[in-house]
Amino acid sequence: MATQIDPWTSAGIEDYSKLFEEFGIQSFEDLLPYTPDPCPYMRRRIIFGHRGYGPVLDAIVNKKPFSVMSGFMPSGKIHLGNKMVMEEIIWHQRMGGDAFVGIADMEAHSVRGTSWQDCHRVGIDEYILSLIALGFEPDGHIYFQSECSPVRDLAFELGMKTNISELSAIYGFSGETSIAHLESALVQSADILQPQIAEYHGPKPVVIPVGADQDPHIRLVRGLASKMRMFKCEVRTSTSTEQHLSTHRTDDTHTSHYEVYERTGQYISVRGKSAPPAALSAIAATIAGMGYDVKQYEEHVDVAADASVFDAIESIVRAIEIEFGGYGFVPPAATYHRFMSGITGGKMSSSVPDSIIALTEKPEEAVTKVKKAKTGGRMTLEEQKKLGGDPDHCAVYELFLFHLIPDDLEVTEIYNECKNGTLICGACKANAAVLMADFLREHQELREIARDRLDEYGLAGK
Ligand code: SF4
Repeated sequence: MATQIDPWTSAGIEDYSKLFEEFGIQSFEDLLPYTPDPCPYMRRRIIFGHRGYGPVLDAIVNKKPFSVMSGFMPSGKIHLGNKMVMEEIIWHQRMGGDAFVGIADMEAHSVRGTSWQDCHRVGIDEYILSLIALGFEPDGHIYFQSECSPVRDLAFELGMKTNISELSAIYGFSGETSIAHLESALVQSADILQPQIAEYHGPKPVVIPVGADQDPHIRLVRGLASKMRMFKCEVRTSTSTEQHLSTHRTDDTHTSHYEVYERTGQYISVRGKSAPPAALSAIAATIAGMGYDVKQYEEHVDVAADASVFDAIESIVRAIEIEFGGYGFVPPAATYHRFMSGITGGKMSSSVPDSIIALTEKPEEAVTKVKKAKTGGRMTLEEQKKLGGDPDHCAVYELFLFHLIPDDLEVTEIYNECKNGTLICGACKANAAVLMADFLREHQELREIARDRLDEYGLAGK
């Protein structure tokens, strides 16, 4: 049976490897050796996959502009799962990314019926204070969707490039779904594309750190980014025995490009179905001026050049598209992390308070939850000593792995000692409880400091 993933109702994903095969998510493992100073979630393989992350990594390594973006729906308590996304954003910000965090109040209002007042209060008190306390820098952008006119304007434009059938296929909308709910899906897409608008210096790679259940959103937005383009560039191979590009040659550069074309039959096609004809002519003239053999047709331009110069040609096309009022969007990338299980086992969910640890809850309450957590321990002490525990199915081990222990070696030691039966669940839980209480106390102090720093983030008086 095909794996179902749906952003609002996914009940958890058992087999991540299926995502590689069925949905084309790529393994992050291949990029890890090239990632400078990878964050713990990368090192520990919690971030397991990506879609289109190569250009983001290239931007990190070569110090080129890129952005990181994610949104939080202001409903319920901020919990450890949200912390994970925030830390991924903050890591990318430290690696040079221009960071964006949207508070999805339009989504909360339309989907959950949360009042605007509560959206605002929860947005600040739960999410923004923790984001700042975890280390989000003031040069990033924090905004509420409802107050962000560029996002709302862009959502309207995106609405022209999709339809109800497409959105319904992705989100399971029915005839009963409210229009506002439908609109909130477009607003989320606009959130993701906003870092590329002119106000933020135009197109660039953008990464969205998400759980795998959000992949349908990502595919939708990548599709919309392409549909919003005036031009589409493709490497093609001529099937004709008679090459169809002009053979007139003017200089040596021209000759060498043309020879590659003659040898490989490869050419780059720039298509712009509804683009202004003047933009197409400008593209043809600019590329020809660089010494390429170019032929202009009514709706496209063919360039005698192979894949090795594709990026250079595409960036010229993108620049001209922007000059003529287009967006030139780069398809946004995503990293995919696996989910932590709930403290009680099963899925972590805000609607089951015992399954989550909120960053705002009293440390003593969190200690009680940790002590009641589902472990991978055996039925008896003797069995545990003899057979060892099962850290791969233990909520306490996940707390260490995801959140409580920064040192990889220490986590490995716990894993091995659990497996070989030298570590016992009681002592292990007690250790986790102390670390959790310490983390919460410190984080909550930092949250209070963050409250006094809201003006640094343009959120004074909120
Ligand atoms: Fe989990 Fe620790 Fe028990 Fe192992 S010893 S199963 S890691 S609680």
